[in-house]
Amino acid sequence: MKDMNKRLAELPKLAEETKKETKKYFSNLKRRTPKNLDYVMQELHEAEFKKTDCLSCGNCCKTTSPIFTEKDVERISKHLRMKVAKFESQYLERDDDDFMVLKSAPCTFFDESDNTCFIYDVRPKACSEYPHTNRKKFIQITELTLTNTEICPAAYNIVEELKKKLPLVSKIKKRRS
Ligand code: SF4
Ligand code: SF4
Repeated sequence: MKDMNKRLAELPKLAEETKKETKKYFSNLKRRTPKNLDYVMQELHEAEFKKTDCLSCGNCCKTTSPIFTEKDVERISKHLRMKVAKFESQYLERDDDDFMVLKSAPCTFFDESDNTCFIYDVRPKACSEYPHTNRKKFIQITELTLTNTEICPAAYNIVEELKKKLPLVSKIKKRRS
């Protein structure tokens, strides 16, 4: 496996190069969604995360914010023994879509010395599910996944493997001559 620093350095260029093709692929996938798509994604996700160690990466925590639900905020504030209002005013803000997100990146709870999370056991649901490539009804999150291929080297690999596994080649219609 390539060194993670090299993978992260190469990722923006690779994701940019494949973006158009991936967008088209997802659009075709939406038109003709194979019944076993979620099953295939689950397999690809598991295979990729057997090879990829998030503790050698941390790029999601370094560069983007998860969405914090009300439940997340309550759970984390309680864990930190903070009042919800204080937690929100100290760490969070509303984004353009009115979701609660972190005020700054890297994440306040990220330890850059070893890529760990200070609040791992109570982290937001969005963090525990990221990059969502094993999610049910994957077809509903293809736009989000396209964005995640620019951030997450595992998501990038999973999508590239998906294209190989389900190439969506149109059937050639038989014609009489
Ligand atoms: S809460 Fe933890 S897992 Fe989530 S972005 Fe911050 S450091 Fe990463
Ligand atoms: S989920 Fe992706 S971006 Fe986040 S640490 Fe793991 S490999 Fe890196």
